[in-house]
Amino acid sequence: MSRIGVFICHCGENISRTVDVERVAAQVGTLPGVAFSTDYKYMCSDPGQGLLKKAIQEQRLSHVVVAACSPRMHEKTFRKAVESAGLNPFLCEMANIREHCSWVHEDRDEATAKAIEIVGMMVERVKKNRVLPTITVPVTKRSLVIGGGIAGIQAALDIADAGHEVVLVEREPSIGGHMAQLSETFPTLDCSQCIMTPKMVDVANHPRIKLYTYAEIEHVEGYIGNFQVTVRKKARSVDEDKCTGCGVCMTKCPVKKIPNKFDQNLGMRPAIYVPFPQAVPNTPVIDRENCTKFKTGKCGVCQKVCGPGAVDYEQEDQLIVEPVGAIVVATGFDLYSIEEKPKGSAIKGYGEFGHGKIPDVIDGMTFERLASASGPTGGKILRPSDGREPKQIVFIQCVGSRAREKGISYCSKICCMYTAKHTMLYHHKVHDGQAYVFFMDARTPGKSYDEFWRRSIEEEEAVYIRGMVSRLYQKGNKIVVMGSDIAVGVQVEIEADMVVLATAVQPQKGADTLAQKLGISYDKYHFYSEAHAKLRPVECATAGIYLAGACQGPKDIPDTVSQASAAAAKVMTLFAKDKLEREPIVARVREAGCVGCFYCQKVCPYGAVEEKEIRDRQGNLVKVVAYVNPGVCGGCGTCQATCPSKSVELDGYTDEQIVAMIESL
Ligand code: SF4
Ligand code: SF4
Repeated sequence: MSRIGVFICHCGENISRTVDVERVAAQVGTLPGVAFSTDYKYMCSDPGQGLLKKAIQEQRLSHVVVAACSPRMHEKTFRKAVESAGLNPFLCEMANIREHCSWVHEDRDEATAKAIEIVGMMVERVKKNRVLPTITVPVTKRSLVIGGGIAGIQAALDIADAGHEVVLVEREPSIGGHMAQLSETFPTLDCSQCIMTPKMVDVANHPRIKLYTYAEIEHVEGYIGNFQVTVRKKARSVDEDKCTGCGVCMTKCPVKKIPNKFDQNLGMRPAIYVPFPQAVPNTPVIDRENCTKFKTGKCGVCQKVCGPGAVDYEQEDQLIVEPVGAIVVATGFDLYSIEEKPKGSAIKGYGEFGHGKIPDVIDGMTFERLASASGPTGGKILRPSDGREPKQIVFIQCVGSRAREKGISYCSKICCMYTAKHTMLYHHKVHDGQAYVFFMDARTPGKSYDEFWRRSIEEEEAVYIRGMVSRLYQKGNKIVVMGSDIAVGVQVEIEADMVVLATAVQPQKGADTLAQKLGISYDKYHFYSEAHAKLRPVECATAGIYLAGACQGPKDIPDTVSQASAAAAKVMTLFAKDKLEREPIVARVREAGCVGCFYCQKVCPYGAVEEKEIRDRQGNLVKVVAYVNPGVCGGCGTCQATCPSKSVELDGYTDEQIVAMIESL
């Protein structure tokens, strides 16, 4: 006979404001099998857990139900408390009466009645929970880092410096990401390349970092501690081992006029190229779409001039399987493209701002390349249309951000600060120039950020106009910008030489596809979701996968680096143990009922279902049945839902338990 203890949490007032917790405790105390029930203000606190442990011992409880917040938040907390009182932790269940009840209802009587039913269901379920042994699995102490921007580089270096091997995979031909494109960084105005390039070199020289550039994740299998990752190393058409990086091929390549993406298409590059002179690795790649040899079969100049014979037109993509124990996702961001219709929006981008039509309307990253000493103008601010120095620049903030009607409601977080930086860089380089900034409000929460923003106005003489631009158009060689200054209530018209749009930060293209390969969740904008915003901000809900940088949400460099180091610390914590304890919530096959159809094997996303031969005493094969490898099973329950003979059951979610829950209503 079960002796179930039920503990109802007030969650401060989060639950008790809407749910009559005393009534719930009294009512569920009368249910068959319930030996003890009580309520407490904060069950997760030390006294709350103490109450639970004391009751287990004094009341000789056999099972426990804690009715509180989501199990995502505190299931582990309560299972640990139950274990320390001598009960198997899997004889404890949580009933979610906060997210599923108090937070979504207003009527106290109705919410209380619903809470009683939710707790009643969990009482019926916990009665049928089995004592489960903890599963231990070995840990592969190597990590994969996806993305070679500042987040990926920082995470990779931290993990490698701690003594563990790292596989760093970057989609572009060089690591460096967006930070390598920047001129100077706020709030200190130190040179971005001077911070970034030594770190890139450290990665290339690190004995424990294996670097794959021009490579993508093809496939991921396995689970925390034991992932098998297939990397597609795309054909560079240049043998990295033979290439000396002399650059002769690039000088001699007759195709010279390919817009260089690294320079925001302002500069040109040949068909065989490295994206920028400080690239790591300094090995060229042939852009097969624009190479004459690949298009017509003629040319072949680069192969002829290459001394070490590194150019290889026959090279093919390679698929390489890397075993790793943890994955850090650091795929970064992209900037909102004004020409495209934003996802989920019926309204087009910002055509009214003339981007893509008026050559001197550029975005923030293009301004960075103009301002950068390594950029196409050598750091001079010049108009793309005619190479003249602009004497009046209008900066427009929040283009694509905070615009619900266009499909993006969030703040991109970095634009206020980088626009302030742009006005300073402009003033430093064009002393007689005037910067105007159209803005809604200034968001500068960061160390020394507000002071920096004020400096752009007080010392660098930028004129800030609170209001949005309604229209701009080309008039001769000027761009007329029309807007309103809502602070003084007047219409403003400025004849500018250049316009710079602070466009929204978005996740990289293909972020959703990568998330599906990794089995991690993402929000409606395709930013990756952390397991818990406050308690587990760098972990994914999928165990063993961690997040770093702007792939999780807009972030500046200091926050990105902090998060990357935090993700690396999580990986090191995982690698501190030789064996890992896993939750034993796994599927089991009832061999007698299994007909060997293997539908479960086809649907299992973890590849956990194997084939097992059943033989009689004489060794004759009787049948082949499914076997779930408990070390691999992710406990998703897909096989249970699929099995036509009802021969697979997931512990804690058996058909018997689900039926008992429904019948309790
Ligand atoms: S010529 Fe050959 S060795 Fe020199 S950079 Fe080109 S591919 Fe490398
Ligand atoms: S529950 Fe079934 S489908 Fe899900 S991982 Fe385990 S074996 Fe695979």
